Amino acid sequence: MATEQTYIMVKPDGVQRGLVGEIIKRFETRGFQLVALKMVHASVEHLEEHYKDLKGKGFFPGLIKYMNSGPVVAMVWQGKDVVKQGRVLLGATNPLASAPGTIRGDFAIDVGRNICHGSDSVESAKAEIALWFGQDGTISYSRAVDAWIYEVS
Ligand code: GDP
Ligand code: MG
Repeated sequence: MATEQTYIMVKPDGVQRGLVGEIIKRFETRGFQLVALKMVHASVEHLEEHYKDLKGKGFFPGLIKYMNSGPVVAMVWQGKDVVKQGRVLLGATNPLASAPGTIRGDFAIDVGRNICHGSDSVESAKAEIALWFGQDGTISYSRAVDAWIYEVS
């Protein structure tokens, strides 16, 4: 259970707007564990692979251009139910529908500039982690604080 992982990414607008620390802070203070992190200016081909399920959508070319417009911060976060909870922390895809208190609800307005990405299922998390961290992998380490975050029966 505590080994579930999700792929979280600060998009180019989040980097430019100085929100990297804020986004990391929300996952950290919730109790999730950071197990991989890097900054990367992704190629068009890499981004087309990441968003391959959206190929054919009218906004796809603009999405790839936006994502290729600057570096992103790629991360893997680990913890209980982290895929679903990560989506909750991010907020709805369209920031106009994101609740205040979520990252998008607090810091974004347009769906095409929604500052962060989070995997939508355990299966897509595995594929996205392999795509972004395939060669590097993730880091396995124990945290003493886990005993204060998780109830161990
Ligand atoms: P997510 O999983 O919440 O990021 O949403 P999707 O997987 O459906 O879409 C991926 C990304 O494409 C979103 O985060 C937006 O940046 C972008 N996107 C989705 N829908 C739209 C849209 O209707 N218009 C525009 N301009 N961008 C969109
Ligand atoms: Mg998605």
